[in-house]
Amino acid sequence: MAPLNEPPPAPPQRALVEQIAERGAQLRSRIAELTDRDVAVVCVTKGHPVEVAVAAVAAGFTRLGENYAQELRDKAAALNGPTPEWHFIGRLQTNKVRLVDRVVSLWQSVDRAAPADRIAQRAPGAAVLVQVDLAGLAGRGGCPPEEVPGLVEHCRGRGLDVRGLMGVGPPGPAEDARPGFRLLTSIAEDLGLEERSMGMSGDLDVAIEAGSTMVRVGSALVGPRARR
Ligand SMILES: *Cc1c(COP(=O)(O)O)cnc(C)c1O
Repeated sequence: MAPLNEPPPAPPQRALVEQIAERGAQLRSRIAELTDRDVAVVCVTKGHPVEVAVAAVAAGFTRLGENYAQELRDKAAALNGPTPEWHFIGRLQTNKVRLVDRVVSLWQSVDRAAPADRIAQRAPGAAVLVQVDLAGLAGRGGCPPEEVPGLVEHCRGRGLDVRGLMGVGPPGPAEDARPGFRLLTSIAEDLGLEERSMGMSGDLDVAIEAGSTMVRVGSALVGPRARR
């Protein structure tokens, strides 16, 4: 908890707002070069102070992404002014769902039944994406591709609104992400799911070429973050 005598968050810092807005404009024009599709941009503010989230909203971003429940909760509480849509994009711990169940608009990282059940209980009908493991790396999150249809069914059975799939490319060259991104698109098409959240600062072009409808961009918009 922030101490009670902490000053309220400062108004958006103009230089920061302008910088984020300019990078946002560059990002949107790059996306327009690559596709005619409507691609949503989630500005990922994890690891940055709340001032950066305030500035991103002032720069026109309406969707902010966070990886850690406490951090999301604290930023959502500290933000005054226009409320963004908060997207939870990090590893989802069942016991942390309650910290953010009232502020999250889209749960992007549902990768197993237990957190899905908790979300359904605490936020009935919530919008979710099922995260697909595209890298086959333990600890990075995501449901194995062959288990995705079953998990989608499970979520629907609990009354959740499954909007689509999310995936994180493997570390390394962006090109290495292409097969996984294509796989995600084909699974989404098979299941009749609209949303395909894939592409970050380093593999945005490949993701859009492979059918992304939503990119999650942090460092290319708001700069490098402190290591956790
Ligand atoms: C951190 C993160 C991002 C943004 O990463 P950048 O490389 O800074 O653009 C996107 N998606 C997920 C799941 C992340 O953890």
